[in-house]
Amino acid sequence: SNALVWLRRDLRDDDHAALYHALKRHTQVYVAFIFDTDILDALSDKQDRRVEFIWESVRQLQQSLQAQGGDLIILHGRATVEIPRLADALKVTDVYANKDYEPVAIARDEAVAATLSQQSRQLHLFKDQVLFEQSEVMTQAGKPYGVFTPYKNAHLAKLNTYYLKAYPVKKYSHHLASVAPEPMPTLEDMGFQRTNLAEMRLPTGMVGAQQLFADFLHRIDHYHDARNFPAIKGVSYLSVHLRFGTISIRQLAHAAWQLTQAGNEGAVIWLNELIWRDFYFQVLFHRPDLQQGRAYKPEYDALPFPNNEAWFSAWCEGRTGFPIVDAAMRQLNQTGYMHNRLRMVVASFLVKDLLIDWRWGERYFAEKLIDFDFAANNGGWQWAASTGCDAQPYFRIFNPQSQSEKFDAQGKFIRKYVPELTALSDQQIHAPWAEKFSKKGLFDKGLPLDYPPPVVDHAQQREQALHLYKNNVK
Ligand code: FAD
Repeated sequence: SNALVWLRRDLRDDDHAALYHALKRHTQVYVAFIFDTDILDALSDKQDRRVEFIWESVRQLQQSLQAQGGDLIILHGRATVEIPRLADALKVTDVYANKDYEPVAIARDEAVAATLSQQSRQLHLFKDQVLFEQSEVMTQAGKPYGVFTPYKNAHLAKLNTYYLKAYPVKKYSHHLASVAPEPMPTLEDMGFQRTNLAEMRLPTGMVGAQQLFADFLHRIDHYHDARNFPAIKGVSYLSVHLRFGTISIRQLAHAAWQLTQAGNEGAVIWLNELIWRDFYFQVLFHRPDLQQGRAYKPEYDALPFPNNEAWFSAWCEGRTGFPIVDAAMRQLNQTGYMHNRLRMVVASFLVKDLLIDWRWGERYFAEKLIDFDFAANNGGWQWAASTGCDAQPYFRIFNPQSQSEKFDAQGKFIRKYVPELTALSDQQIHAPWAEKFSKKGLFDKGLPLDYPPPVVDHAQQREQALHLYKNNVK
C-alpha cells in the first residue's frame, strides 16, 4: 500500500523514525515538506535566515531522495489543508510524521489527524527528535522532574544502545516512490528574500550537519574547558541542525555516549547539554501553559517590571554601553547565533539590570535566533529570570563586567563585534566608563569613542532588582 511521510523539523533521510516505519510497512512511500503559511505568514521580517536555512536544506534533501529513486514533494500552503489533500491525491492509506512537542504543533497535528480520519486515513506519530520524550523519564512518584540533575541521572541510567540505535532507513529505500517533478517554490515565490546566510560559515542541510559534527569530534575532548569562551571555537554550532533535524539526535548522543564510556570529560559535559535539550522538551510537554507566557513558578508570574522601552531598544540594538552585552546582541543581529555564555549574560542583564520582563527578551530571541526552539529558549529565559524550573535564585545576579573579564579576558570577542572599542586596552575594554581608567572615566576625558556611555549603573540596578523580586514574589 501507499503511504505519505510528512517532514517538519526532521529534514534528513537517514536515521529517521517516521520514514523508517513507513518504508518498512508500505511499498510506495511519498515524502513531502510543506512551507506552512500558518507559520511563515506570522514572520514579520521577510529576510529570515531560518527560512533560507530550511529552503537550502530541503533542496539538498530532495536531491538525496531523488538519487535513491524517490523524491520530495515541496509545497507552499497551509499544512492542515495540504497534507489531507495530498494524502487523498496520492491515494495513501496512512500518513507518517515525527512528533513535535510544542503545544501549537500538537494542536496542528490533532487537526490534521481529525481531517485524515474523516477520509479513513490514519496519522502515525513517532518519537524522533529527543532521546526520551513526554513521560519516559519520571520521578519515582511518577511526576515530571523539576530539577535538572536528578532528571539527568535518571536519563543517563536509562540510556543504552537500544535508545541510541540508528533507524536503518536505507534498508528499505527501494520503497521510495518517485513523483512527476514539480518545481520547488523559490524564496521569492513565498514572499521571502535571501539573507546573509551564504556569507556565514554555516553549512546547511544533512551534508553541512555532518561536516560540523566531524569537525566538532576533533575538538570534543576540550569542550568542558573551551565551551564558555565566545572568542574560542569551543562549542559544536549544531543547534540549528538539531532544530531542523538535519542530523539525528541519536547519532550525536551515541557518539558522545561512547566517548563518555571511555572517560572523555568533554563528551560527558556535551552529552549533558543534549540532555538539557531533552529536559526542556519534557518540561514544556508537561506544562503547555508555558507557551501562553506563564512563568514556570506561578508565584513569579506577575512581577511588576517597569519595562523601559528606550532601554529595551538599546539592548536589542547592542548600544547599552556594556561592551560584552552589546557585542553579544550584535552577534545575534548579524548572524542569528549567540554563544551560550552570552545568552545567559544578556538575558540576566535585560531582566536584572534593565528590569525588563523576560518575555520581551524571549520574544526578541524568538525572532532572531536561527536555532530558535521554544522549549530551550523559554527554559533559558526563565532560568535567567529566576522564574523557571531549576532556575538561578533571584539574588544571583551576573555582573556584566566581571563576566566579560572572565570569559573574554582579552576582549577578542568584543573587538570583533564592537570595533569602536578596538583601540582600548584589554583592561579598559570591559568597562570603558570605569573610574579607575581615569579620574572621571574615559568619556569625560573626551576620548573619541563612537560608543555610548552605560545606560544604567549596575550596582544601583542590582539593588532595584533584588527589591523588585523580594517584594513581589507571591
Ligand atoms: P553546544 O554547546 O555544542 O551544545 C550542543 C547542543 O546541546 C546544542 O546544540 C543544543 O541543542 C543543546 N543545548 C546546549 N545547551 C542547552 C541548553 N541550555 N538548553 C537546551 N539545550 C541546550 N538553544 C536552542 O537550541 N534554541 C534556543 O532558542 C535557545 N535559546 C536560549 C535562550 C537563552 C536565554 C539561553 C540561556 C540559552 C538558550 N539556548 C537555546 C541554549 C544554548 O544557548 C544553545 O543551545 C547553544 O548556545 C547552541 O550552540 P551549540 O549548538 O554550539 O551548543
